[in-house]
Amino acid sequence: MTFTGAFLGLAARDSSTILDAEGGNPQTRRGKIAAKTRNLGASAPLRAGVKSAFAPFASICSAKGGSTSACFGKKVTVMDALTDPRALAALETPARPTQEEAEAAVRTLLAWAGDNPQREGLLDTPKRVVKAYREYFSGYEADPIAELSRTFEDVQGYDDIVMLRNIDVESHCEHHMAPFLGKAHVAYVPTKAVVGISKIARVVEIFSKRLQTQETLTAQIADAINEAMAPAGVAVLVEAVHQCMTMRGVHHKDVSTITTQFSGVFKTDRDLRDRFIRLAAKDERRLA
Ligand SMILES: [Zn+2]
Repeated sequence: MTFTGAFLGLAARDSSTILDAEGGNPQTRRGKIAAKTRNLGASAPLRAGVKSAFAPFASICSAKGGSTSACFGKKVTVMDALTDPRALAALETPARPTQEEAEAAVRTLLAWAGDNPQREGLLDTPKRVVKAYREYFSGYEADPIAELSRTFEDVQGYDDIVMLRNIDVESHCEHHMAPFLGKAHVAYVPTKAVVGISKIARVVEIFSKRLQTQETLTAQIADAINEAMAPAGVAVLVEAVHQCMTMRGVHHKDVSTITTQFSGVFKTDRDLRDRFIRLAAKDERRLA
């Protein structure tokens, strides 16, 4: 995890006082804020949390006589955002446009493609596209941490791999908004509690139904399981084909992309990691 990521996680966890002051269930609201943070749609209370959590470091920096950002180096983009209005705007998710505005934008793209948005076959297309977008990007409205919050402790001391293979990944790349489709294999080694297995698939779905890079998606799945369940280790392997590569640009039809993320025992225990890879590769000669 990068310093910025770790810091945002810290800020999100430390935000309970602010949440209490605002009312509402801190557990749920903290989960929501953490989810927002992962998406860099930081809310005003979160920014306040980041700012107050950052205050002690800022005074250490100024005591050393340097500027705060110089003190922390280039990685501290969130810190820059506290003082730079343009960077702050980049952190803020703008208000959702109205349905009419979204449909008008689709008509613009239809005309940009070279067609006539007013011809009969295309009249209802903007409405359908906007509706489809709701489904493609429904992950922004869901909270992966909340999905993993209900755990079961009565597992008779089970302490080995729990793995879900071949979870469908239907996502869109954030660079071209083109679909990328594939499979995710996710495993964890529980410490004392396990989670309903469908919830792991749900976490993959929530992160997939946002604009993504495959690398970010893979890391987010692992981070969410780590954050919500504190298992002994997490392993995630995603294999996907990106339409921005098959249908445009280089037009390579048979190239798939594999990304992996390991933490805890999967990082330190090579045998365990190899077992995960073998289980993920089962029936898939490509990975064998
Ligand atoms: Zn792309």
